[in-house]
Amino acid sequence: MPDRKAYTVTFWGTRGSIPTPGAHTARYGGNTPCVAVESAGGELVILDAGTGIRALGLTLVGRHNGAVNAEILLSHAHWDHIQGLPHFKPFFAPGNRVRIWGPRQGTTSLEAILRQQMDPAVFPVPLDALSAKLTVQQVEPGEFTMGAFRVHALRLRHPGTTLGYRLTPIAGGPSMAYVTDNELGAGGSYETGATWARDFVTFLKGVDLLIHDAMYTPEELASHRGWGHSTFEEAVAVAAEAGVERLVLFHHEPEHGDGAIDDLLALARQQARAGGRGRLAEVLAAQEGMKLTL
Ligand SMILES: [Zn+2]
Ligand SMILES: [Zn+2]
Repeated sequence: MPDRKAYTVTFWGTRGSIPTPGAHTARYGGNTPCVAVESAGGELVILDAGTGIRALGLTLVGRHNGAVNAEILLSHAHWDHIQGLPHFKPFFAPGNRVRIWGPRQGTTSLEAILRQQMDPAVFPVPLDALSAKLTVQQVEPGEFTMGAFRVHALRLRHPGTTLGYRLTPIAGGPSMAYVTDNELGAGGSYETGATWARDFVTFLKGVDLLIHDAMYTPEELASHRGWGHSTFEEAVAVAAEAGVERLVLFHHEPEHGDGAIDDLLALARQQARAGGRGRLAEVLAAQEGMKLTL
């Protein structure tokens, strides 16, 4: 019997904003956000559908084509989080079943957004022509059940409607949070309410793993306030405050080569060691191919 509480988290895309292939990003990766969560029972949740989802799709097809069953949970519909979808190979074989979950944007439904991305003007295969069984499930902030997980969705500080997700196996066991494209600092004007900072810490309280936007250095943030992203320092501070055990710095700035990410990771670890870290035992930088077990 598989352990119903255990699952793995694999990083297929770690980069923010735009793919950055090349020798300078080979270690941390150049694909845009995509993280696979797989339970021991075989349930699969895919967090975001950036370009990293292409290679994940190939792996899934290689493993069990015609019987792929996947839940894709989108944080929001900015390009870097959906641009891999048209190249997700399981869409193109009958028998596969994919459910795409995510928020609407203003009055535009999630399904309309996905259709636009595959409109004949910009892509040769329309959404209706996929062979797999596709369902689109719009979500609102709050709680819902998705496969083997109970999901709590919270609105983030980012342009448009962007949701952060906390996932807990229904069978019990370790919880994780996926929070990308989120401005922890004071910049920007977002519809998140006056108590957001407190609500956010409550939302994260005690998670075993937090994947958080850490796009900028403090110097870079100065010219990017209101862009909807955070620094690694802010990510470490909120992880410590919320009693997170493991933090993964995510959504790397396209201009950051591997050396720059090494440097900011070293500073983040120094900050975590320097005290006030709460339960925070480990800080990592998301790396394509990295697999964590919870
Ligand atoms: Zn993004
Ligand atoms: Zn975004």
